[in-house]
Amino acid sequence: MSTKAAAYAAQTATSPLAHASIDRRDVGPHDVQIDILFCGVCHSDLHTARGEWQGVVHPVVPGHEIVGRVTKVGAEVKKVKVGDMGAVGCMVDSCGSCPSCARSEEIYCDKGDVTFTYNTPDKHFPGKMTYGGYSKSIVVTERFVCRVPAGMDLAATAPLLCAGITTYSPLKHWGAGPGKKVGIVGLGGLGHMGVKFAHAFGAHTVLFTTSPSKVEDGKRLGADEVVVSKNQAEMDKHVASFDFILNTVAVSHNLDAFVNLLNTNGTMCLVGAPATPHPSPAIFPLLMKRRSIAGSAIGGIKETQEMLEFCAKKKIVSDIEIIPIQKINEAYERMLKSDVKYRFVIDMASLS
Ligand code: NAP
Ligand code: ZN
Ligand code: ZN
Repeated sequence: MSTKAAAYAAQTATSPLAHASIDRRDVGPHDVQIDILFCGVCHSDLHTARGEWQGVVHPVVPGHEIVGRVTKVGAEVKKVKVGDMGAVGCMVDSCGSCPSCARSEEIYCDKGDVTFTYNTPDKHFPGKMTYGGYSKSIVVTERFVCRVPAGMDLAATAPLLCAGITTYSPLKHWGAGPGKKVGIVGLGGLGHMGVKFAHAFGAHTVLFTTSPSKVEDGKRLGADEVVVSKNQAEMDKHVASFDFILNTVAVSHNLDAFVNLLNTNGTMCLVGAPATPHPSPAIFPLLMKRRSIAGSAIGGIKETQEMLEFCAKKKIVSDIEIIPIQKINEAYERMLKSDVKYRFVIDMASLS
C-alpha cells in the first residue's frame, strides 16, 4: 500500500522539471510522515536532475533541504510527535550498525550503504527509487529526522539541512576558530553559510568570489575581507597565509590558485562536486609546504542536530529568496549564472 503525493520531477536529463504524481510508502513502526512546507534548492539538485553525475536514474524528484510538519508517526517513534516541526537533509537511511554509523557519521557508512533522500533504491519500498522534497509529503525513518528548534524561521532554516551542515562540519573538523585564517571560495548557497559559520566560530574569515557585485554582501554576511579571485594582485596579497580554505565552487577550476594561498600544513577542503574533474593540481606547491587537499561530505545526523541548535542559539539562518515551485526551472538557470541571493527556497504551498 502507498499514498499519492504531488511533486515536481525531471523525467529525463534534458526535460524541465514539471508536475508529477509519486507514491509515498505507508508509515511503518519507525517511520515519520512529514507534510513539506519548505524545500531549499541545492546545486546538487541541478547536477542530479540534469544527469551530470554518474548513476542518475530518471525520473528524479530533487530536494534535500526539507522542513515540514509531522503528520503521522509509527508506533515505535520517540524522537518527534504529530504536530512537531521536522527536518530532513540529504540522507534517509544507512546501514545503522557499522562503526561510522554508530558514531552517527552515517554519510561515511563503512558499508557504503547510504540511502540518499533522492535517487537511491529505497530499502523500505521495494522496486522504488527515493524521491526528494520537491513534493507535498515524505515518509522517513525516524533516525534521519531532525528536530527544528522552536522559534526558527522555517523557510530560512530549510537550507541548513544541506548547505548548513556541509559547511559547518568541515569548518569544525579543521578547527576554524579564533587565531585561524579561514577562506571560503564562492558565495552561493554553501559559501554564504560557510562565511556565516567561519565568522561565528571566531576565525578571521576571507571570502573569495568571482563576482565583484557580491563584495558588500560578503562583508555583511560576516567576511572580514573579500577578495575578487580574478584579480591576481588581490590574490597575491594572501600567498601562504591561510590555515584552512573551504572551496564550494560547483564547476571545474584551477585549484593551484588557492593551494598557493595555504600556509605550511594548511588544508583546502573541497565540498563543491562539479560534473567534470578539476585539472590535476601542481605537486611542488603541495609538498614544499606540506599542504593538503581534502574533501568532506555533508555531515552526520548527530552533527546536523547540533548545527541546528547552534544556529538557534546564534540566530543564524540562510539568506533566502522564496519561490513558488512553478519558478524552479528559472531558478536553476539563475543558479548557473551565480545569480542566487543566496539560496532559493520553494514554498510548497504553491504545489497542488
Ligand atoms: P551555488 O549556490 O550555485 O554556488 C556556487 C558558487 O560557486 C557560485 O555562487 C559562485 O560564487 C561560484 N562559482 C560559480 N561559477 C564559478 C566559476 N566559473 N569559477 C569560480 N567560482 C564559480 O551552489 P551550491 O548549492 O552552493 O553548491 C556548490 C557545490 O557544492 C555544488 O557542486 C554542489 O553539488 C556541491 N555540494 C556538495 C556537498 C557535499 O556534501 N560535499 C553538499 C552540497 C552541495 P561567486 O559568484 O561568489 O564566485
Ligand atoms: Zn545539497
Ligand atoms: Zn554503516
